[in-house]
Amino acid sequence: WELPSAASRPVSDAPPIDTTKAHSARMYDYYLGGKDNYPADRETAEVAEQSWTSVRTAVRENRTFLARAVRHLVREAGVTQFLDIGTGLPSAGNVHEVAQRENPACRVVYTDNDPIVLAHARSLLRGTSEGRTAYIHADLRDPGAILASPEVAETLDLDRPVVLMLVAILHFIVDEERPAEIVRTLLDALPSGSYLVASHVTPELDPDGVGGLERAYRNGGVPAQARPRDQFAKLAFEGLELVEPGVVLVSEWRPDGAGPRPPAAEVSWYGGVARKP
Ligand code: SAH
Repeated sequence: WELPSAASRPVSDAPPIDTTKAHSARMYDYYLGGKDNYPADRETAEVAEQSWTSVRTAVRENRTFLARAVRHLVREAGVTQFLDIGTGLPSAGNVHEVAQRENPACRVVYTDNDPIVLAHARSLLRGTSEGRTAYIHADLRDPGAILASPEVAETLDLDRPVVLMLVAILHFIVDEERPAEIVRTLLDALPSGSYLVASHVTPELDPDGVGGLERAYRNGGVPAQARPRDQFAKLAFEGLELVEPGVVLVSEWRPDGAGPRPPAAEVSWYGGVARKP
């Protein structure tokens, strides 16, 4: 896809893309080697990387965790509906690509609050003819608006299980914004047999490196909060039935094959999948 200019607007009422400040979606894209990022994003990302030198490894591990979790849920749990909040910039292995490869009837609603993701949303909307995808420009901190959107009503059947994906987004919701309540509000709207997939950066394995990354994000105007494993597990998965192996490093969640995996401190990122009883 083309890199939009600062003034580009995909639809007339879309918010403008501010290229003067760092954005988490564009920094994540930079770590993955993408080209949808601007000098302000790269500057903050580079300061973060000087502190947490393995951030690229960690981001790649998170991204492959996402794909393994989606594949597992379609194959083993037979789920065909996804609500993916914090989609990020389209890259290889988006949720609908992974899910529809397993079952072409899968349906995905994507949500992100970054205007640049909206600008690229078209490429998320090219799915199979049997399945369906939709995109909402919305904020996780307003879960009611996401649930009430026509895209959710038109794309997902909320009487059947839905996978709620909160992958690499909860660490952008600071404690004052009550992340646990946001997760509950979303899960309350989904039926029994639904799933949550979530992942989160942790400070406990490399406090200096990850602490410096957090500071770099905050100084760049991107509030972020790494959380220890237990805090993450409680805020995301309390009241749910964890799928084996539970809340573990993303690299340790049902890895493909027995190949070598990076040291724990380099990953510093927990993930899990759980079922709503
Ligand atoms: N889930 C993808 C991308 C993670 S990057 C993956 O794991 O590979 C984090 C994404 O969350 C970014 O695209 C960013 O724009 C989005 N995001 C951050 N805070 C958000 C919020 N409050 N509401 C909606 N999206 C948000």
